[in-house]
Amino acid sequence: MKLNRRGFLGATAGAAAAASLSAPMVHAAGMGKPKVVVIGGGAGGATCARYIAKDSKGAIDVTLVEPTRTYYTCFFSNLYMAGFRELGSISHSYGKLASEYGINVVHDWAVNIDREAKTVSLAGGATLSYDRLVLSPGIDFVDGAVDGWDITKQNKMPHAYKAGSQTELLKAQIEAMPQGGTYAMVAPPNPFRCPPGPYERISMVAHILKDRNPTAKIIIADPKEKFSKQGLFQDGWSRHYDGMIEWVGPDFGGNNVSVDADAMTLTIDGEVTNVDVCNVIPAMKAGKICDMAGITEGNWAPVNAHTMQSRVDDNIHVLGDASNQGDMPKSGFAANSQAKVAAMAVRGALTDSKVFPAKFTNTCWSLIDTDDGVKVGASYEATDEKIAKVDGFISKVGEDAALRQKTYEESVGWYAGITSDMFG
Ligand SMILES: Cc1cc2nc3c(=O)[nH]c(=O)nc-3n(C[C@H](O)[C@H](O)[C@H](O)COP(=O)(O)OP(=O)(O)OC[C@H]3O[C@@H](n4cnc5c(N)ncnc54)[C@H](O)[C@@H]3O)c2cc1C
Repeated sequence: MKLNRRGFLGATAGAAAAASLSAPMVHAAGMGKPKVVVIGGGAGGATCARYIAKDSKGAIDVTLVEPTRTYYTCFFSNLYMAGFRELGSISHSYGKLASEYGINVVHDWAVNIDREAKTVSLAGGATLSYDRLVLSPGIDFVDGAVDGWDITKQNKMPHAYKAGSQTELLKAQIEAMPQGGTYAMVAPPNPFRCPPGPYERISMVAHILKDRNPTAKIIIADPKEKFSKQGLFQDGWSRHYDGMIEWVGPDFGGNNVSVDADAMTLTIDGEVTNVDVCNVIPAMKAGKICDMAGITEGNWAPVNAHTMQSRVDDNIHVLGDASNQGDMPKSGFAANSQAKVAAMAVRGALTDSKVFPAKFTNTCWSLIDTDDGVKVGASYEATDEKIAKVDGFISKVGEDAALRQKTYEESVGWYAGITSDMFG
């Protein structure tokens, strides 16, 4: 029997939470190995699966459920569009997770979670049971967020906010723009995946157009009053791409936008503009499987910062973009950092290994033009309320070219490091 979500919560959540926090479930001989199922093989899920498998040295059975055989990182996908990277350099396979870490990699969609039975149903028909479940499904888009756009329009007006074919499509559209044409972006409201991502993308689009199509125009319709690294981006745009980029914030109608994919128009505050490329990045929410599991409040899944456990169900940990955790931005770096905290908590709960206080870090690099890299970052600690920022840093306007080049090179090193931390 499957419990109704509200009934389940009302009846048992409090008791379950108390029991699981006070008494780690250590498996007795004869019970078989404890089982962990990880849903989503991205920055959070792949890292978490690898750390649990690696550090438990075979004491925990780890299954990773991920529909795609190749993971394209969103990080550096803007750089791929601008020709700084090849597509192959941002694509990764799950082979080593299976062959070197013994993870059972299942290429399928999770379509249901029965929290009472502690099982996950897969689209292919299989059912997986778990002692702990880790959810790192990334984001989905909020239906109806941009007037005139839904997922059926993504081929005409790509989001390119999940990397892969969408990224290739947007790149091809930019390269095919007529001379003097217009690229438009509809930017998302907060909170969303990768706060500097849309603005790094604008920089990279301008980088392509400056060479190939110097009379082209770029318009950003933005519902936000301000955006990440705004001073750094706007300084870079005036130095490298003067007069090419128009940012339309909410004071000028950036929050009153509709699109027409057949007519290829963008309407801002009633004013219609013909566009050649329209990159619509809608408002976001936790990957749908979180809703199906009944662990979301609003658009995101709230978590306990000490362990990344869902605040609704202690047997589930939620990582990365899908979680509502506090002060960290939704980034690959953050998801990777949260994954290690969750992996330690899962091992502690299932094998009684030592658990240290949770600490987190994040840095988001962005490339504005060749060798002109900037960054923002912070360290964080877990409090009972949230992941709380401790201190931070940000690049400065007016830094010399050598420092900007070093910052870019640092990001290239980070990319190599995080992808090997995810995939082995
Ligand atoms: C353009 C762009 C640039 C970015 N640049 C940076 C950057 O420079 N640095 C940085 O740190 N971050 C960057 N990010 C953000 C980063 O990509 C995300 O924050 C990060 O990928 C989040 O990790 P995640 O594990 O939450 O989700 P993801 O990495 O998206 O992984 C989620 C996985 O779950 C799978 N999944 C979803 N639903 C199911 C289901 N039902 N069953 C099974 N599997 C499922 C998906 O297929 C996917 O592989 C960027 C993002 C974008 C869009």
